[in-house]
Amino acid sequence: EGLERVCKYSTAKGQSDPENPHRHEKRVRKVINDDITDVIGNTPMVRINNIAKKDGIECELLAKCEYLNPGGSVKDRIGRRMVVDAEISGRIQRGDTLIEPTSGNTGIGLAMTAAAKGYNMVITLPEKMSQEKSDVLAALGSTVIRTPTEMPFDHVGSHIGIALELQRTLDRAHILDQYKNPANPLVHYDETGQEIFDQCGGKVDYVVVSAGTGGQITGISRKLKELDPNIQVIGVDPNGSILAQPDDLNKEGIHSYKVEGIGYDFIPRVLDRQYVDKWLKTDDTESFEYARRLIKEEGMLVGGSSGCAMAAAVRLIKELNIGAGKRVVVLLPDSVRNYITKFINNDWMYENGFITEEECTRLSNSTL
Ligand code: PMP
Repeated sequence: EGLERVCKYSTAKGQSDPENPHRHEKRVRKVINDDITDVIGNTPMVRINNIAKKDGIECELLAKCEYLNPGGSVKDRIGRRMVVDAEISGRIQRGDTLIEPTSGNTGIGLAMTAAAKGYNMVITLPEKMSQEKSDVLAALGSTVIRTPTEMPFDHVGSHIGIALELQRTLDRAHILDQYKNPANPLVHYDETGQEIFDQCGGKVDYVVVSAGTGGQITGISRKLKELDPNIQVIGVDPNGSILAQPDDLNKEGIHSYKVEGIGYDFIPRVLDRQYVDKWLKTDDTESFEYARRLIKEEGMLVGGSSGCAMAAAVRLIKELNIGAGKRVVVLLPDSVRNYITKFINNDWMYENGFITEEECTRLSNSTL
């Protein structure tokens, strides 16, 4: 079984048609892959059993396991796609330097692609992001620059400001810019959304997606609504962020929170909110609770934003009384590898006020 490429809109040389950004290629797993980026995507769809039973859910609850991508997150998809598209358009050449301001996972996806395909990589990363992410990026050969978390996005000292300054001063340096790059939503339109539809045999009622840049929710929704306009796409936005609509959902205003990779203090250009039918807000406590439950009760080694999406999905199902015969798909964006010293650590949960001292002691001492 080889990689079956069906490039409807590509020219004979494999160049993209400038009039059409899509590459309708069905990426099938090879027996032997050319490099690690071939393994990105085609992630499994897995039924949520025990949480559904305990929470009294009667509809079918399915999880799209983006955390099983080779770099540990959904952002591997855009890392690969942004580099490949920039190569095809002639914007970058092997040996160039790629710079990306990122909360970590896009950096890992890009750094993995850069390592496999021969680019230098510089990542600007807000301090809040875990040491694990930073260490993995450094191990992949990237230069990592930490920036203050509280700095507004348009400040020269923010992760975005520093990246822009480096692009100006370094030779052959490019910011592929996940916030504006059409490859971000496109890869989810061309691949993730289509995969969800195919894996479900076309039977999908609701899809629940947490939003950061919004690339995932925009691309997935555009594809799914084209295939079946009845599919409802639900956005998940943490309290402290302002992505949700209507705006009164964001009544807490902009403040910091502990879940990583989702929510912003500005609306990224790749987020097209007309494709989101309903937004739900989540808080850190329920997000970490559900992330820990996904690990403990389902054996799914996910990160905090997966907990956000699952908590929101459970709330949605109860609020809308979604019952038997309906199917809800939840996107699980990244793996626990990024959070080994964070929410899976009982002391961290206690120190950050998410569990009581007694709970912490009980959990830490529990034996058979
Ligand atoms: N969860 C995690 C852990 C992420 O890193 C991201 C990407 N920032 C998302 C969810 C949201 O994905 P998107 O940027 O496509 O909205």
